[in-house]
Order: sequence, then structure tokens, then C-alpha cells
Amino acid sequence: MGDRCNDYGDRLGCLGEADPRYTMDFTDVKPGAFVFWCAHCGPEAHALNEALQEAFDTRPGFASELEKEIERAEEEMENKLAPVPHG
Ligand SMILES: [Zn+2]
Repeated sequence: MGDRCNDYGDRLGCLGEADPRYTMDFTDVKPGAFVFWCAHCGPEAHALNEALQEAFDTRPGFASELEKEIERAEEEMENKLAPVPHG
């Protein structure tokens, strides 16, 4: 049976069915760690992954920058979800 795309249900245009050409192999980091992508999400996911990888390789301190970005995004998300005070 085929695997489901990592973005199945999240990304507009996602095909759902994973395309083996776009499977990411992270087993050198974690045993059995594969991320599956369909033919729609795969190219975008790979481009993003390559850009991230390049940033990690070429920019010292990128990991902590990224962590801060993620924290900020999470805070923004929480603020958006928080009820808007009236009056
Ligand atoms: Zn997809």
C-alpha cells in the first residue's frame, strides 16, 4: 500500500498519495525516519529542505535563529487564537 503525503489534508492541491521520488530519508538521524511527499508537495518540501540545509551549513548561529523564529511564530499563533477583548 502507498504511504500518505506528510501534508495530506493541510496543503491545498495535495494529492494525498505519496510519490516515492520525493521521500525524504532521515534514517541517518533517526532509525526508520522517512517523510513522505506527494508529487504536488514534494518539490516544495525538497526546495525548503535544501534551503534550510544550506543555511545550516553556511550561517553560523542559524539553528538558534531558527529556534527564535519558530518561537515567535508560535507566540503569534497563540495571540491570534486568544479571544479578542471587547470594549
Ligand atoms: Zn501532498
